[in-house]
Amino acid sequence: MLDATFSVKPGKFNFFCFVGMTNTTKLPYGEDFNEFRSRLAAHATLTARPARDSQNHVPLGRLGKLRTPLQLVVHLMAEKSALNVPPAADVARLAISALARYREPCHWRSIFEITATLVPFATLWALACAAVHFGYWELSFLFGLPAAGFLVRLFMIQHDCGHGSFFRYRPANDWLGRFLGVLTLTPYDDWRRAHAIHHANSGHLDRRGIGDIDTLTVCEFQALPVWARLRYRLYRHPFVMFGLGSAYQFLFRHRLPISSGRGGWHAWISAMATNLAIAVSATTLIWFIGIRPFLIVHLPIALLAGAVGIWLFYVQHQFEDTFWAHGREWNFPEASLRGSSYYDLPAILRWFTANIGVHHVHHLCSRIPYYRLPQTLRDNPDLRSVSRLTLLQSFRCVRLVLWDESCRRLVSFRDVRMRRVG
Ligand SMILES: [Zn+2]
Repeated sequence: MLDATFSVKPGKFNFFCFVGMTNTTKLPYGEDFNEFRSRLAAHATLTARPARDSQNHVPLGRLGKLRTPLQLVVHLMAEKSALNVPPAADVARLAISALARYREPCHWRSIFEITATLVPFATLWALACAAVHFGYWELSFLFGLPAAGFLVRLFMIQHDCGHGSFFRYRPANDWLGRFLGVLTLTPYDDWRRAHAIHHANSGHLDRRGIGDIDTLTVCEFQALPVWARLRYRLYRHPFVMFGLGSAYQFLFRHRLPISSGRGGWHAWISAMATNLAIAVSATTLIWFIGIRPFLIVHLPIALLAGAVGIWLFYVQHQFEDTFWAHGREWNFPEASLRGSSYYDLPAILRWFTANIGVHHVHHLCSRIPYYRLPQTLRDNPDLRSVSRLTLLQSFRCVRLVLWDESCRRLVSFRDVRMRRVG
């Protein structure tokens, strides 16, 4: 059984936990991949779940032709076989270790990436400010639109810093992350902790509540009193989720570390220091340009970037064929590859979102810098076939709000109602 919290160090099968523990795991089958393959093929025959999507279905006979552990795991995921038995977990470890070679960041590339994002953001912000100053408000919104895109990209760089993948040295990651946290209104250290918990527990029905979007099962929802059902319906309404909710999240909720569990005084220092830096930066800018121009320029940028950020986080885990499981049914590779989408966006959106759409690979190996994620897909094209979500398909995810444990998919309120009537 794979532990939820470890990832592979280069060249070794040692695993470290996001929240500080270390764990060493011996591989019982050594390098004998053929034995893995035959054991797993036998196991998969017994446990293969019926694939509803025939396009994704891979006949078990093909298992024999797969050459690497990564290929094998990806194909098992595509055919929705369980990965919660020891031989499968061992192959999964080998698959994760195959991704370790993409983990090394290139410092020059990282410096280029932050420059190519921060400079246009600051330039567009200044242009929007000048437009307001000369009375061209409409123009300021025109500059604000791409500025919001660059702010989303800055958040994604902050995200990589949180995983320790943007630079080789942790202080460089942490201080860049803290600086970006002032721009993105997100206290870096507190968010990093909650996000690590999200990675460790993603898709685990018994460990919900920190760093994720609240998701109830159909049975849990039906057992709720009327007022609580109404509250959940409101929470999951698109206007609340991507409008009011995202504004609340970035403007108010991040100001106090009340949502990330037991963060202790570290979380408070992180939140208060970020608040102080935001207050000093905002006061300085308001001193120079005035409070009205500041709000006219910055508020739409922050709100739009926040809504896009919540949208991305939403579609990366809230799609029809996602993965949720209890206890021993849950395992890290399956939660990563099937519980996270491959959001196949057009090139321009891929750039602005810093490849966050390659989320299944990111969850499988979170130490890969975002600019190396496309290479993982080029080298392992099979990864494109798992949990793929197009832009058009992603809009349909908005109505999927409850996890149906009987058919293992995310369903809408309407689906539940229709079933009751039926
Ligand atoms: Zn992450």
